Amino acid sequence: MPEMEKFLTKHIDVPGIDTLDVYRQYGGYEALAKALREYQPDQLIEEVKKSGLRGRGGAGFPTGMKWSFLAKNDKPRYLCCNCDESEPGTFKDRMLMEKIPHLLVEGVLITSYACRISTAFIYIRGELALAARQVERAVKEAYEAGLIGKNILGSDFSVDIIVHRGAGAYICGEESALMESLEGKRGYPRLKPPFPAAVGLYGGPTVINNCETLCTVPAIIRHGADYYASFGTEKSKGTRIFCLSGHVKKPGNYELPLGIPMRTLIYDEQYGGGVLGDKAVKAIIPGGSSTFFLGPDKLDTPLDYESIAAAGSMLGSGGVIVLNEDTCIVGAILRAVEFYRDESCGKCTPCREGTFWLTQILERLEHGEGKMKDIDLLTDICSNISGKSFCPLGDAATSLITSGVRLFREEFEYHVKHGHCMVSSQPALV
Ligand code: NAD
Ligand code: SF4
Repeated sequence: MPEMEKFLTKHIDVPGIDTLDVYRQYGGYEALAKALREYQPDQLIEEVKKSGLRGRGGAGFPTGMKWSFLAKNDKPRYLCCNCDESEPGTFKDRMLMEKIPHLLVEGVLITSYACRISTAFIYIRGELALAARQVERAVKEAYEAGLIGKNILGSDFSVDIIVHRGAGAYICGEESALMESLEGKRGYPRLKPPFPAAVGLYGGPTVINNCETLCTVPAIIRHGADYYASFGTEKSKGTRIFCLSGHVKKPGNYELPLGIPMRTLIYDEQYGGGVLGDKAVKAIIPGGSSTFFLGPDKLDTPLDYESIAAAGSMLGSGGVIVLNEDTCIVGAILRAVEFYRDESCGKCTPCREGTFWLTQILERLEHGEGKMKDIDLLTDICSNISGKSFCPLGDAATSLITSGVRLFREEFEYHVKHGHCMVSSQPALV
């Protein structure tokens, strides 16, 4: 077994890999051919279960298990590929779509075959114009080559793929709001359960998987589940793309085995190359802005679902944001919570009103007009949003506040006492 394997990004910088010809020269669509030739649909589901692949959108739900939950009834089944990547600090799906769109198309095709689906949607975030053009072009090429449509590669498997562009709402990345949006309605989340696997798009059983998750499927079929599962940790198998940003020398997307220590990603010359200005790390947000701050004492935590949870946060969407010692924590949190306030869909009161109140309080603290009691008021409002909102966006809006106050309370107090920040403030990063 090689020490390092790149299942998704190995060929990503090959010139022309975004075209069908070059993608095929590098083994593209061989996994699809193998799937159709050697596997019955249920066997494919078992193979993906065996690989241990877990959703790369953020929740980490086991992919094969999700597929096996599809309700067995006479309604049409659908696949929705969630490419509405919008989590601050996360930019991997965008790269995959822009650079190697046929990998996504191949993943959608294999998944559709495994789940006996004949209509698949690729839902792309509105702002990702180049990504959408690339995926649309790849779908067109694949149709013309007989890789999408009727009787693919001479088999009895047929599927249509429809590319849909969102209109720039973060909430439409929440799976039930995504389905509402696809159905032509306002992107409001639906009550769960029922989960989409039971009642989804147009009321049919629906698989919703993230872009990176589906891009991983061809590699699992090509190399076999056992090989894929030989990377990573016992419960977090394989590789994933970590989006490294913030105060690091070399921000970017790095595909690495799950379980690699956070310190390696941030400091190794091949990856982050260390902290900007060789400053100390003040905090890390390990999985996009919906996750909790970790302090520098957690730098040696392995980047896998279980270890990051044990350290007090979540691996989330893989967006690792590094904040150095010069960061104003209050300012950084304010910037993030403004985002959630603006993106709250307004359906439920705790999130709609709460995110507005939180930003007001953070603004006065940031501008030296806050009172000591504001700090506890912030956490009190958070406890009335988290777990009491209709969808995860409400909870997400509170993560940085609760962990920020717990880890950096003295910075909030300093703002109140002195009317300004205790550090030379750098621009907020999230
Ligand atoms: P979730 O845990 O509610 O669900 C995960 C998936 O498993 C869903 O597809 C759900 O339908 C399915 N599922 C769960 N239980 C099931 C059951 N009993 N039967 C059938 N299916 C079941 O999480 P979520 O709301 O989908 O995602 C939350 C995560 O999304 C957060 O942790 C956050 O990190 C991430 N996120 C990502 C982005 C991004 O741009 N990638 C943006 C915002 C949030
Ligand atoms: Fe909308 Fe926020 Fe309520 Fe979710 S939690 S339904 S985003 S208002």
